[in-house]
Amino acid sequence: MVMSFQFPAYFTAIFIITRVMSIMKISKPLDVHHKDIRAVDLATKLSVDPSAIESASRDFGGIVKAEPEAVLHPSAPQDIAALIKFSYSNSVPFGIAAKGHGHSVRGQAMAENGVVVDMRSMANNRRNGTGIRISIDRLYADVGGEQLWIDVLNATLEYGLAPVSWTDYLYLTVGGTLSNAGISGQTFRYGPQISNVLEMDVITGKADFLTCSPRMNSELFYAVLGGLGQFGIITRARIPLQPAPKGVKWVRLLYDDFSSFTKDQELLISKNGRKDKSALDYLEGSLLMDQGSPDNWRSSFFPHKDHPRIISLITKHGIIYCLEIVKHYDDRTKHTVDKEMKQVLQGLNYMPGFMFGKDVGYEEFLNRVRSGELKLKSQGLWDVPHPWLNLFIPKSQISDFNNGVFRGIVLERNITTGPVLVYPMNRQKWDDRMSAVIPDEEIFYTVGFLHSSGFDTWEAFEDQNKDIMRFCNKTGILVKQYLPHYSTKEEWVHHFGSKWKVFQHRKYQFDPRMLLSPGQRIFNNN
Ligand code: FAD
Repeated sequence: MVMSFQFPAYFTAIFIITRVMSIMKISKPLDVHHKDIRAVDLATKLSVDPSAIESASRDFGGIVKAEPEAVLHPSAPQDIAALIKFSYSNSVPFGIAAKGHGHSVRGQAMAENGVVVDMRSMANNRRNGTGIRISIDRLYADVGGEQLWIDVLNATLEYGLAPVSWTDYLYLTVGGTLSNAGISGQTFRYGPQISNVLEMDVITGKADFLTCSPRMNSELFYAVLGGLGQFGIITRARIPLQPAPKGVKWVRLLYDDFSSFTKDQELLISKNGRKDKSALDYLEGSLLMDQGSPDNWRSSFFPHKDHPRIISLITKHGIIYCLEIVKHYDDRTKHTVDKEMKQVLQGLNYMPGFMFGKDVGYEEFLNRVRSGELKLKSQGLWDVPHPWLNLFIPKSQISDFNNGVFRGIVLERNITTGPVLVYPMNRQKWDDRMSAVIPDEEIFYTVGFLHSSGFDTWEAFEDQNKDIMRFCNKTGILVKQYLPHYSTKEEWVHHFGSKWKVFQHRKYQFDPRMLLSPGQRIFNNN
């Protein structure tokens, strides 16, 4: 068990490491015993530099702050294994958190008074790390856990190939999204990213360095996928590839009626066979609310000339629902894709005259959030607090959620300006052996409140988030949080439901001293 950190032995451990670092400056590695060489090597990669500590104490959420004692900049998985071994065998172990790109919003990648492993350091060390290696014959990519999905996309596109399941934003690491699920508009058809992994290399909380897959060390494989970093650090994932499309037909349809909107979404995701050529390649949905422009930072889509009539529609109805769909094409299908899209649109109940289309390259589509990010960065509006709330809601209760939350809490409070996503996915595309938690119904919705706030206004959004959770509890909506955040053990037990026993058992099996990802506050919340 990771102890609270008043213990002198813990400080001794960190002291020893930092001391080894200073000794390094005056002694030669060859002067020390063989087993000390590893410690010396490890110590040279640990940093107590204030800027490294500061950056490891923060995340995209900008709400939680927790300082580690040191930051490890590994150049190879062996460095991570050595650190875990050091803590595991210490009389009072310290917490260790892998930090991918720090895009968590609640301190999940932090390790207060422990050590944060800056996974991105390995991306700079191609010689020792996994990097990105592509097998053209066997259609997969071996990808380091520290790699960004944008780099995976660019590397695979060079061979005309690409993974099939994505997140909306690509500047996230492979290890970070596989620790959650990795969802987007492809999930209804291909499953989340965790359903698209062939095998992984993982360093467990006992410092065992294991390859796992559905056939080899399968318990570890399923534990780690969606495992919130609790069981091991992913250093390599094998991702299946398919021939990449050339471009996409991208359509948005507007609805003033929630029931027509969800009915159409559910109809469209009912065609979901991986090989079904008539199925859509992507489906999402969002709310348009009174915020000055129908576009938001996540995408600029609507033609400027149409903004006034969309805005007056929003003003009239308070909320407009926007369905977003995509069909891929390549050289072979570029002449037939328009006809296919027309067929898809037939029989849908969107508002006449409110269909908007675009034709863009495949990479431009997948990387669509980037331009918004760069724009916000240039305005100093990216590094602001992000009191996000991401939920999964059973299909049978999404209408109650619309009435009570979208048309109730959200409109009444009238502070929501950020994107609000709402789209369905199919449970059969997920694997229940994995750690990720989803509702029991075959179709469930994801709802994402992706708020940006001012530094002194984030608490109002937090209050709204709490109101939403309270409303769900009171009215019996069986909501599950995605990218979950809880502060008590009871809440975590409730979150995992029937999966809790297995989750806990796996923790004892793979990380018995409770070292890993303490920022999730699952096993160290008292
Ligand atoms: P971090 O925040 O660094 O880490 C997250 C957790 O994973 C921590 O517990 C950490 O300890 C653990 N971890 C990190 N690396 C490893 C590893 N190699 N092995 C084991 N554990 C590890 N999510 C979606 O599913 N779909 C989206 O469309 C989407 N869009 C997003 C857009 C933006 C702008 C942002 C900020 C986030 C988005 N997310 C989305 C959420 C995102 O998937 C998670 O926040 C994810 O954890 C971020 O990845 P990261 O690499 O920054 O991980």
